[in-house]
Amino acid sequence: MKIGFAGLGVMGGPMARHLVQAGHEVAGFNRTSDKARAWAQASGGRFAATVAEAAAGADLLILCVGNDDDVRQVVTEALPHLKAGAIIVDHTTTSARAAREMSALAAVQGCDFIDAPVSGGQAGAENGQLSVMVGGEAAALDKAEPVLMAYSKAVKHMGASGTGQLTKMVNQIAIAGVVQGLAEAVHFAQVAGLDTDAVYDAISKGAAQSWQMDNRWKTMAEGRFDFGFAVDWMRKDLGLVLDEARSNGAHLELTALVDRFYAEVQAMGGSRWDTSSLAARLQARNGRA
Ligand code: NAP
Repeated sequence: MKIGFAGLGVMGGPMARHLVQAGHEVAGFNRTSDKARAWAQASGGRFAATVAEAAAGADLLILCVGNDDDVRQVVTEALPHLKAGAIIVDHTTTSARAAREMSALAAVQGCDFIDAPVSGGQAGAENGQLSVMVGGEAAALDKAEPVLMAYSKAVKHMGASGTGQLTKMVNQIAIAGVVQGLAEAVHFAQVAGLDTDAVYDAISKGAAQSWQMDNRWKTMAEGRFDFGFAVDWMRKDLGLVLDEARSNGAHLELTALVDRFYAEVQAMGGSRWDTSSLAARLQARNGRA
């Protein structure tokens, strides 16, 4: 397949590399073009200096940029250069509204747009083990799915345009509450003077077990917060979630509270710390950090 790829950052860079390795002809574009040049050199893909260059003649245009406005910009610039029948796959985490807007815009040009946010983080992108949740036309996904499998372990069609993004919001709601609960558990164990390793051994095989507990308990206790998904990104995602909840009427009391806690972590200088740094906020309150 001839593929244009826009957004060669932490996630997009390795995803586009997997596509080259799978034998596709990939043209990589990035806002900061040095990054695209470095990606092309390392991966064997083709450097594209503009969106138009990446989109021209492509069967598939894949995006993994930052936010709603980035997606609007890339899609608007790309559409006049895409051939009719091309498919746009957006891996950016955005609002569901932006996904529906882009889908309508693409349809005018005879193209499909599918919203396809991912979970699995940087490690998932590097190892080709992402989970993709997709909204949009099933027929378009059927064509794109074999390509997406170059960097995915699971691709799930959720329904109409926007439902991929809504599913990613559910993922972030579930994570926010669990991480705060875990941070409080570690904090309480420390304040109570318990051996945190022994506590983990005692409780991690029972009902308290979670991915976050298995992967972040020890690092939270040690005050290490450099494991990927940054607080700034989580605040962007929780902002999308809370906006959506304001319009659909869902009650997200805990999510709103955890979003405020992340704002405090940002104020502590933790914008680039990973999401488990909710523990740092609690440690700072007790003068431990
Ligand atoms: P990132 O490292 O900042 O990468 C984003 C890339 O997109 C950057 O290289 C940026 O270019 C480029 N970009 C932004 N706007 C652009 C535009 N208008 N045209 C062309 N390129 C543009 O971020 P990331 O961690 O890869 O995350 C990307 C998306 O995936 C976000 O929506 C994020 O929420 C989501 N996500 C991330 C993770 C994770 O663990 N990191 C996990 C799941 C989902 P510059 O070099 O100019 O900044």
